[in-house]
Amino acid sequence: MLYPYYGFYGFDTGYLIVVLVALALGGLTQAYIRSTYRKWSQVDAHVPGTGADVARRMLDEGGASQVGITRVAGTLTDHYDPRDNRLHLSDDNYRGASVASVAVACHEAGHAVQAARGFWFYRLRTALVPAVNFAQGSWTLILLLGVVLNFAGLVQAAIVLFAVSVVFQLVTLPVEIDASRRAVAYLSARGSGLDEKGAREVLVAAALTYVAGALTSIVQLLYLLGRYGGRGEE
Ligand SMILES: [Zn+2]
Repeated sequence: MLYPYYGFYGFDTGYLIVVLVALALGGLTQAYIRSTYRKWSQVDAHVPGTGADVARRMLDEGGASQVGITRVAGTLTDHYDPRDNRLHLSDDNYRGASVASVAVACHEAGHAVQAARGFWFYRLRTALVPAVNFAQGSWTLILLLGVVLNFAGLVQAAIVLFAVSVVFQLVTLPVEIDASRRAVAYLSARGSGLDEKGAREVLVAAALTYVAGALTSIVQLLYLLGRYGGRGEE
């Protein structure tokens, strides 16, 4: 995200507004996902077993039976890690049998199924990870150097690096939406008494955080282009 970097821009009203809007948007989407999650944590899913059990069945039926499931501390810390090929489910979702628990667990199983089946956007996103790590770790320093040394080439390189992370965030969106689509499809086919609307609501709320992050980055990229694009000086 962008707030660690605003110091580099000095007293810049335009950038301050970008940062404030980003913080507000981030805060709102976080509050929304937490309240939606809390609401549907209290509603039983009417699907046999816990989040971990349902995810296990979805993995097995989706051609990802070699994927393991472990618990991880925290709330909404759930993720699929391709490095150890495991779903890491938060305690509440691992043990819980609510609409929220099974929806989140199946969303993560959806990522593992994407990996097992070679879903195109998932593969593209994975291929971008090393470049994104480099870009995110270096673009602010390169921008700072470019501005201080008044060297347009460095400033442009920094903007290209930032654009790489924007592309990554955009590629992440179809990956997230597809994982949720797989989760809802699985649950609605198997859970006769499941409140499908609840599962959808939880997963849409989770996706909104990615949408907000991507929008914020696009605005930041436009700001960088407007301020530094093609000039390399203030
Ligand atoms: Zn996801």
